[in-house]
Amino acid sequence: MTHPTNRAEETRRAWHGVLEKYLEDRSTPLNAQYWSPMDTWSRDQIRAVQDEKIASVAPFLYENSDFYRRRFDGLGLAPTALKSVDDLIAKWPVITKQEMMEDAIAHPPFGTYTACGPDEWADRGWMHFSSSGSTGVPRVFRYTHFDRKFWEQANARALYSGGLRKGDTAFPMVGFGPHVFAWGVQYTLAAMNLPVIPGGGMDAKARAHIIERFKPTTLVCTPSYAFYLGGVMREMGLDPAASSVKWLVTGGEPFSGVAGTVEKLQDLWGAMSVEFYGCTEVSPHCGGYSCPEYQTGDENFIHLMEDIQVWETVDPDTLAPVAMGEKGITVCTNLNSESSPQLRFLVGDYTRLSDAPCACGRNHIKGMGCLTGRSDDLINLRGIKFFPVQIEEAVRAIKGTGDEFQIRLTTMDDGLDVMTVLVEHTDSAVADVVAKEIRSRCEIRCAVEVRAPNSLPKSEMKAKRVYDERNKG
Ligand SMILES: [Zn+2]
Repeated sequence: MTHPTNRAEETRRAWHGVLEKYLEDRSTPLNAQYWSPMDTWSRDQIRAVQDEKIASVAPFLYENSDFYRRRFDGLGLAPTALKSVDDLIAKWPVITKQEMMEDAIAHPPFGTYTACGPDEWADRGWMHFSSSGSTGVPRVFRYTHFDRKFWEQANARALYSGGLRKGDTAFPMVGFGPHVFAWGVQYTLAAMNLPVIPGGGMDAKARAHIIERFKPTTLVCTPSYAFYLGGVMREMGLDPAASSVKWLVTGGEPFSGVAGTVEKLQDLWGAMSVEFYGCTEVSPHCGGYSCPEYQTGDENFIHLMEDIQVWETVDPDTLAPVAMGEKGITVCTNLNSESSPQLRFLVGDYTRLSDAPCACGRNHIKGMGCLTGRSDDLINLRGIKFFPVQIEEAVRAIKGTGDEFQIRLTTMDDGLDVMTVLVEHTDSAVADVVAKEIRSRCEIRCAVEVRAPNSLPKSEMKAKRVYDERNKG
């Protein structure tokens, strides 16, 4: 008879074995174009490795996570029933944040949805992260030093694909809070042997002086902070576009890939934006990343790193898979961790997937239009649904609008909910133009108020764009 503890250990050893088979502990790139040979794997090679990992991770999760064991049992599925991507999509319903949150509430303080228990934490615990959900109980994710190596390599592939090379110096200006973005980049820069100028705990003017004096090539921050700092530099009589900065590694905010915003940010800094897309739950290291083609193409996109994760899109209402090229919301299966491998977690960003070959030589699937508009952010105004990013795109499409804008939702005395969009511009007549642009993109009528340039409050770390002051109920 097999003791459960032995099964837990056996399946963990087997899962470690599969993970390590594909671990490259690189501190230097493969060649001038690619960090890793996995970057140019064929789609067949990618699929074969995904299948191999799923067949190993399913029994591992069954034995090492009570959340998964309950789910397998509830579905009447043996852990050996999932041996491929096809099995997974056919037999395993998506996991929602709500489901994870309920587990966290029922089993405080860690929940049972990860496979990092007290023994692993004591033996090789690395970092304790927390989901950035705006409401409810925080979902916590503990990762081990075993995971760290996989995390660093995934991020290194992404940063190298984005353009970072030996000779670059990074200047991270991020709060090192319990969120994954800043830490992931920090550890990866060390693994890539790239130097860092620490930029925490100082104001924008001090940071501007550091850029002028010590000439870092790479800023690491949220997109809104890059706008803010650029604005502060201009007020100081400095031109960000003439600075040493060549790369903007942006993340930590859902607005990184908004059409118009990326271009505006790149123009402000005379630098290239290097996208970093992921989430704490299932893609704590980079899941989506830029390649050189993204920098020049007609439509923004990011690659999704498929040998370590399975990415799908599903219908937001039925959660049924949508066809390649159709718009849906993202689902990710993470196959790159001992602590938090997750099967079909509903990340919930709208995108269209494309498996068309990319001129950069990477065969990893692409999220077109980048991945913007998390389904949680959807605004419902009088039954018309739209995302803040659609308003942002409309505002950015009008020449001369400032960096800041606000969306205000209020209820009139007669009970009608209305939207007012505040923009910055020198010409108040631009209100009609913006309103028309919004109407054509979102099919919604709204009032537009024009304020003087630089009069709206500047957002520093994380932009607050939506002020919902409607009467509820
Ligand atoms: Zn590419």
